[in-house]
Amino acid sequence: MSSFPFDPKSELNGNVLSRFYIDGQWVQPGSHESVPVVAPSTGQAFVSVPLADSGDVDKAVDAARRAFDTGSWPRMSGAKRADYLGKMSVALASRMTLLSRIWTAEVGAPIWFANMFVPTAAAMLDYYAELASTFAFEESRATRGGEARIVRQPVGVTALIAPWNAQLPILSYKLSAALAAGCTVVIKAPPEAPFDALVVAECAHEAGLPPGVLNVITADANGGAHLVAKREVDKVSFTGSTATGKVIARTCADRLARVTLELGGKSAAIVLDDAELNPTLAALVPFTMPFSGQICFAQTRILVPRSREREFVEAYSVIIGGLKVGDPWDMTTQIGPLASRRQLERVIGYIEAGRNEGAQITTGGGRSSQHDQGFFVEPTVFASVTSEMTIAREEIFGPVVSIIAYDDVDQAVALANDTDFGLSGTVFTSDVERGYATARRIRTGNVSVNGLEMAPNVPFGGFKQSGIGREGGPEGLSAFLEDQAIYLPAASPRVRQE
Ligand code: NAD
Repeated sequence: MSSFPFDPKSELNGNVLSRFYIDGQWVQPGSHESVPVVAPSTGQAFVSVPLADSGDVDKAVDAARRAFDTGSWPRMSGAKRADYLGKMSVALASRMTLLSRIWTAEVGAPIWFANMFVPTAAAMLDYYAELASTFAFEESRATRGGEARIVRQPVGVTALIAPWNAQLPILSYKLSAALAAGCTVVIKAPPEAPFDALVVAECAHEAGLPPGVLNVITADANGGAHLVAKREVDKVSFTGSTATGKVIARTCADRLARVTLELGGKSAAIVLDDAELNPTLAALVPFTMPFSGQICFAQTRILVPRSREREFVEAYSVIIGGLKVGDPWDMTTQIGPLASRRQLERVIGYIEAGRNEGAQITTGGGRSSQHDQGFFVEPTVFASVTSEMTIAREEIFGPVVSIIAYDDVDQAVALANDTDFGLSGTVFTSDVERGYATARRIRTGNVSVNGLEMAPNVPFGGFKQSGIGREGGPEGLSAFLEDQAIYLPAASPRVRQE
């Protein structure tokens, strides 16, 4: 049986447990509704949190609107905003252990995995602090009549919505860039994983962020829908499923609100015929079902040369079959539970679909028999998969991988691209230039050769139905800026750099 060594009442501040952060203050929710937060490792609720109603959402948006229209934040120099981001990063860095523990408690991420990825949030704040202090928010260009000044204005009030799976790292992309740009922000935290965003609010408060610049409420899909429909919100930055992304895009289209969408994936790892087996497996395995496959960039389709199919399927299945499934609080656990009962049912449904459509299970294939509590599924590998099967087409978001055989590189590329998604991908080869040439043929936002990397200064995002826009790098900052051109006659004073 899994232990549950997280005590919200002693580990979390009372404000984080029961209030929202609006206009620089911890406020009592107007709504009287609350929801239980369920620990995936036990299947039991461990705390209840307040759920915002439309009045709470309105208050948060009003505060962000005021701070944008009349406050100092959008008018401050990039360097000054960078100071605040730096202070937030320090405050966040002092809470790393707590943030890892929250991640494991709320959604069952193995604690070593949480420990590894939580620091990326502070790194993201540091990266955007550095960029904000050097970025050309204003630039002069000569024109026939004199000069045009291109002013990169913050886009305005932004709504940031991220899914339950990796709240902190995903929010940190959005929040760091939005704040660096001079936007004000309303974060809608999901009820399944409410605490990270509220701890981030604590950090912002500690850093002295002006009131209204950052506001945090916890709300469900109804609260989220109310937020994105508000005309006072100028931009929505959303990460989540493709289905919800389409709903949000339609709402934003009504008033042409700006929107960035980071959506689902069905990414392919192409193992080229010259790839050495063991180094390939060592580099690939961690990214095929990270956090039980509940990560958008998981490499869930492995494309292998038909001549090496048997060798690869056997070796990969042995490794996956040997992964330790269990208590996410145990540092030696490799595969923890799925995040919710809904996730469990969804993943079991896909395993059934794979079986029914004729794919062959080489390891796993059902609920973990060793765990009668919690939402545990065996890591599952399907071989003899074809591109038409449901398990090869839809995002499962669980520890389920499909292996598909190909005859030549052209077919491998065609299979990799035979999907509605286009988020990530990998190529494994002993010839890096060949890997690069193959990567360029894959219609996805990110491809890595012989491994998988994501860096703060590099854009991340999707082609096709994996999204619109990019986060990370200068591209992620531009997503929160509007270019304004101001034409001036000749002999005007020199461009002002704050
Ligand atoms: P989801 O789309 O169901 O929900 C995401 C968030 O949107 C939640 O906070 C939810 O409360 C909110 N929401 C739901 N309906 C809404 C509406 N109509 N208006 C406004 N907000 C609404 O996704 P999920 O199940 O929480 O997360 C899993 C999905 O997220 C997967 O598809 C995964 O691929 C995707 N994801 C993408 C990335 C990426 O960077 N591309 C990263 C992580 C997860």
